[in-house]
Amino acid sequence: MGLPNVGKSTLFNALLKVAQAQAGNFPFTTIEPNIGVVAVPDERLDQLAALVKPAKITPATVRFVDIAGLVRGASKGEGLGNKFLAHIREVDAIAMVVRIFLDPNVTHVAGKIDPADDIRTIQLELILADLATIEKRVDAVGGRAKTGDKDTHAQLAFFEKIQRVLENEQLAREVGELTEDETRWLKELQLLTSKPFLYIGNVSEDQIGTGSWELERYPILPISAKLEAELAELTEEEQAEYLQELNLREPGRDALIRAAYDVLGLATYLTAGPKEVRAWTITKGMTAPQAAGVIHGDFERGFIAADVIPWQKFVEAGGWAEAKTKGWVKTEGKTYIFKDGDVTVFRFNV
Ligand code: GDP
Repeated sequence: MGLPNVGKSTLFNALLKVAQAQAGNFPFTTIEPNIGVVAVPDERLDQLAALVKPAKITPATVRFVDIAGLVRGASKGEGLGNKFLAHIREVDAIAMVVRIFLDPNVTHVAGKIDPADDIRTIQLELILADLATIEKRVDAVGGRAKTGDKDTHAQLAFFEKIQRVLENEQLAREVGELTEDETRWLKELQLLTSKPFLYIGNVSEDQIGTGSWELERYPILPISAKLEAELAELTEEEQAEYLQELNLREPGRDALIRAAYDVLGLATYLTAGPKEVRAWTITKGMTAPQAAGVIHGDFERGFIAADVIPWQKFVEAGGWAEAKTKGWVKTEGKTYIFKDGDVTVFRFNV
């Protein structure tokens, strides 16, 4: 999301084009006009596949939604207003695109290129929408608190704290340390500004690779939407050549997809067999049975153990049999916390 004319659709369409090119390889890839499901680039899958020669490779995916431009006053129903906010409510994380590129031919809604101000404008609209939500909750819980128990009082105090954070023009997720109850209450509020944010700076092509950016104390992921659009038109070999010419290691979309994955607090474990080499998405900190549950509920319920090896060790050994002979495969129980890049086989009762 972002202000109009900052390059959201250009960037989104580049992603969508890549998704469409991938669609042939990945049958589960569904595409709607403003929704694109994009494979998470992961070289580990190719390395595992080179060893186990699977019938297919299945990467993890991220779903991107292109949300129409926000304008000042959206929280009061300006522009697409409430409909716009309803769309944002449904996502897990917000990728905010701000314009950094200079191009006199492309007008800026505010009449000047000031990405920090754009961030403030957008965030303020989200904060105002959240304030309307929290004020209603404070009123409702406040009424009950007069006669209510200790819990209701604690909840009211928490809601008032969130209200103060928003009134200070801070995001709800900037509230600080939370107790377990407060974490739950915050989640139930479904505020827009308690979601994770990813800030994307649409820079000029000559600003790519000039180091890291920061605006309004937030780290910015620099991307050139124009360059991404150009890359999306090319074959893979042509892309590689073009990137080399520009002295870039990878397309910006790869960094964007990884950053999205990261901001969502997600990690990947891998399965590697003759039928399929596959990346499975977990939330960081998941235990072995929970990770097994991502494949199938029965795996979680009937969990006995997981055979686990870090992917580098798997590749170094040259496959399951060799890794076992070397004693590198560990058998882990219910309390094991899965790590990004673990290669695994689950044992379970059905
Ligand atoms: P949106 O309203 O945020 O979706 O913006 P669009 O993607 O429709 O882009 C608005 C205009 O800016 C279009 O004319 C684009 O061609 C142009 N544009 C988008 N990204 C870039 C960029 O990185 N560099 C330049 N020079 N123009 C861009």
